Amino acid sequence: MGEMEDERTSQAGQLFENFVQATTCKGTLQAFSVLCRQLELNPSDHRGFYSSLKAAVTYWKAKGLWGKLDKRVSHKEYSKGKACVDTRCLIIGGGPCGFRTAIELALLGAKVVVIEKRDTFSRNNVLHLWPYTIQDLRDLGAKKFYGKFCAGSIDHISIRQLQLMLLKIALIVGVEVHVNMEFAKLLEPPEDQGTDGPGWRVEVRPADHPISDYEFDVIIGADGRRSTLDGFKRKEFRGKLAIAITANFVNRNTTAEAKVEEISGVAFIFNQKFFLELKEETGIDLENIVYYKDNTHYFVMTAKKQSLLDKGVIINDYIETERLLASDNVNQEALLSYAREAADFGTNYQLPSLDYAINHYGQPDVAMFDFTCMYASENAALVREKSGHQLLVALVGDSLLEPFWPMGTGCARGFLAAFDTAWMIKGWAQGKGPLDLLSERESIYRLLPQTTAENISKNFEQYTIDPATRYPNLNSTCVRPHQVRHLYINGEQD
Ligand code: FAD
Repeated sequence: MGEMEDERTSQAGQLFENFVQATTCKGTLQAFSVLCRQLELNPSDHRGFYSSLKAAVTYWKAKGLWGKLDKRVSHKEYSKGKACVDTRCLIIGGGPCGFRTAIELALLGAKVVVIEKRDTFSRNNVLHLWPYTIQDLRDLGAKKFYGKFCAGSIDHISIRQLQLMLLKIALIVGVEVHVNMEFAKLLEPPEDQGTDGPGWRVEVRPADHPISDYEFDVIIGADGRRSTLDGFKRKEFRGKLAIAITANFVNRNTTAEAKVEEISGVAFIFNQKFFLELKEETGIDLENIVYYKDNTHYFVMTAKKQSLLDKGVIINDYIETERLLASDNVNQEALLSYAREAADFGTNYQLPSLDYAINHYGQPDVAMFDFTCMYASENAALVREKSGHQLLVALVGDSLLEPFWPMGTGCARGFLAAFDTAWMIKGWAQGKGPLDLLSERESIYRLLPQTTAENISKNFEQYTIDPATRYPNLNSTCVRPHQVRHLYINGEQD
């Protein structure tokens, strides 16, 4: 009997380990489904799933993870996973912010579905993490999924590693994840059936999927900078022309590579001598450059237009940036050389070989982006009502507030918005009225663009979804309910 028990423990341990160690999105989902099947766990039992999994997987390595997650689950804000028991949430987009939001909503006890249009996590680019995000991810067991997570003074992670780790945590806490599924549009409840009829649903691609029959109380747009959700006005911040280049080179993890120092962006902006020398020696004119050593050697830099023209990267000069950076106006070979030369100079020629890593399209991983206009949504949430069914709609991550990559604010502000959104959904589940709810959310959203790693609360251990634990100067009533009436969209009145 004892032996059989041991065997079962080790089999469960192995299955779980396969899941934890999976290195791709598809591999993770596959290992998860094998794990559930073999251990007879029901992933659609979203509320009981985490405890069933914990009871089934008792080997020593998993225990450390359970310890961390148990601590998280015990936050009083989640009311023992009963705060949002009847709330059904759809999250559009499986980027870092979509998954981070999904985890919080699952911990509140909500039914959470994430749909992601792709089935691979392939972004080599690296995200800067603020100290609180590092702590947050550590507390979710980041190191169990990715041993190298923020070791020593490292404060960054590749987007793909972050997505992978968050996908795993989301699955563990009972989130339902569908890849290869694209959000097409929101479907209103049918008018003639009132509250007895079906509620809010969505049209997805492929169309013949059971998701089309799901009804939702909350929909969250986490689909990145080109959000597809209707109803949100976008504010445009037009700055001076800003062209960013990202480049990823193969990291062979040699001793020579390990010795090369990273370049943290913020400090470098002020190093004028470096940029003058760079220009003199190579003709490359940059405003800043960041270098992180991760799975790849990752560089992000903002380049001046004239030097891109001089070096033949941009072929013809146009006023409109869209035309300027259109693929037929960019010499790809020259772009590869430009970024490689800048990377080489920036690291004092110490990286032994600068071979480009390969991107999602099988091409050398270099890209040029226009940051002249950055977008932010005017509002963070709205409520729709039709035929007696209410729907709370919210944005998080880049959909809400687009980051300027060289400053690396995307994930840090994105997670803050994920927590703020979870807080709002908790209020919604508790029956808070739409205008009170929306005015509170807008009050908190006003703080977001001003947040920096320095001005948010330093007591990371105390962080919860309650905004008061994170924003020192919180005034949750600065926007008044009458100012958000336009965000309560009642179909019948239209
Ligand atoms: P994203 O990470 O953009 O995730 C959105 C997800 O939604 C994607 O997985 C997308 O496939 C999915 N999606 C989109 N539309 C739909 C739909 N209709 N249905 C279903 N799913 C959908 N930041 C930096 O700081 N430095 C960088 O170098 C950098 N490089 C980037 C490179 C690229 C190509 C992109 C897209 C973003 C980059 N960012 C970078 C931004 C950074 O990735 C984000 O700030 C961060 O990932 C948090 O964003 P998010 O989760 O809100 O959105």
